[in-house]
Amino acid sequence: MKRVFQSYSGNTWGYDIHTGVVAPFDMPISPRGVEEEPFFSLQPYPDEAWAQAVARGIGILILNVTEKCSNRCRYCVYGGAYGHERTHSQRVMSLEIARKGVDFYCSHRNKADGKLLLSFYGGEPMFEEGLTRIRDVLAYAKARWPDVPVMPSFTTNGNHLTKENCRFLIENDVQVMVSLDGPKDLHDRYRRTLHGEPTFQTIMANLQRLHDLSPDYYRRRVGFIAVVTPPVAYQRRSAFFREHPLTAGQPVLVSNVSLYNQTLFDTQTIRDFAQETIAAMNEAAQAYYQAALRGEQGAYRFEQSLFGHTLWRLEHLSLEGQSERTLGLGGCCVPGVTKLFVHTDGTLYACEKMEGYYPLGHVSTGLDKKAVLDLIHGFERLRVGRCENCPYVRLCSLCYVNAMDKAHTVSATCLDDACIERCSFFKVALRLYASLREAGISPIEAFAPAEQGIFDP
Ligand code: SF4
Ligand code: SF4
Ligand code: SF4
Repeated sequence: MKRVFQSYSGNTWGYDIHTGVVAPFDMPISPRGVEEEPFFSLQPYPDEAWAQAVARGIGILILNVTEKCSNRCRYCVYGGAYGHERTHSQRVMSLEIARKGVDFYCSHRNKADGKLLLSFYGGEPMFEEGLTRIRDVLAYAKARWPDVPVMPSFTTNGNHLTKENCRFLIENDVQVMVSLDGPKDLHDRYRRTLHGEPTFQTIMANLQRLHDLSPDYYRRRVGFIAVVTPPVAYQRRSAFFREHPLTAGQPVLVSNVSLYNQTLFDTQTIRDFAQETIAAMNEAAQAYYQAALRGEQGAYRFEQSLFGHTLWRLEHLSLEGQSERTLGLGGCCVPGVTKLFVHTDGTLYACEKMEGYYPLGHVSTGLDKKAVLDLIHGFERLRVGRCENCPYVRLCSLCYVNAMDKAHTVSATCLDDACIERCSFFKVALRLYASLREAGISPIEAFAPAEQGIFDP
């Protein structure tokens, strides 16, 4: 069955909801009323699949080395405006817990990569004892597994890039994602230090230092995370990342500020933000298309972050042995196996976004199979009758995170908003994809998901 839509030049294309194939469409369009639902049948995750996932091994380890942070960004989920999240604290992961986390990962890791993929989280991982713990862990891993290369990564607020710390990043070839929301006024509006001071100028000076110490390292290993807040100001943010000498050509991950259960934004602001976001999505798709016609799409990293994953999926969609009519896990991970997040106290979670929501065991005792399967099956129950009737299911990567409510349980209400946003997005992305193909342009040219892979769930 096809979803029919038009490219920018007005030609008719069809998206096959079962196979994900997009092709020019020249058949008479059947009225929507005769489409039969459900389109798909969800296959519950079988117990045996858990054993297979464990046998493949854990993809990446994320250690939450500290809950301390040198910033108090106004939109921070740990800043008190989100009543259901933890708040900043002085907690630091002990060396014992950190070593147990690394040991557990190393004895259950996926060896296909041939590397130890060690990621660190906070708070601010480079703040005070956080960086000490990172140094400890890297030294421990290198001493214990001298033959396996270590690939470290973390996200940082960019406050702590002293000369010495920059050298540490360069020597260890650390992949860093620096939080930077766009030009000075947009960034400083929300991203403030502990003492309420703006951070933009410090970060840019620090980035310049890091760049000057090793332009080669900077080009290969530095990326940015931009949080979009009211006002969306899409064009200004996009132009900043495209044009500033320290951001141009570097990967950018874009996400919207969380609007769930918070006290920062009133109802009208949220409504306006939702409308602005839809308009921005269309503008961004058009801008990427126009850039591609000029052969400049490689410079449009902000837009690539928005559309790249979906364009890539449309090019590489595989049903992985499933029939066209069945659904498996979809965009969901196998919690604790695809990634493994270790809290400062050693509790295990699926990833940093699930911290505090759904414990899956402890570094001392390992993953609790029942807890993992409970999470998978809880989300599956929400997908029955919902994703089974969704034409965009083959493109969707909504997961447990999008369904977690303030009581820390999976909730249909939370997922509803995410589904509405995603379905609007997929329509825009399909139009962009078909328009690029029509113009003879590879939709994923210049987009390299692998370079962002470990940061992109
Ligand atoms: S730097 Fe990150 S952890 Fe720290 S306050 Fe800002 S958003 Fe929160
Ligand atoms: S958008 Fe919602 S309904 Fe559609 S596949 Fe994703 S989670 Fe399911
Ligand atoms: S974001 Fe969702 S799919 Fe990705 S690791 Fe976290 S829980 Fe799993």
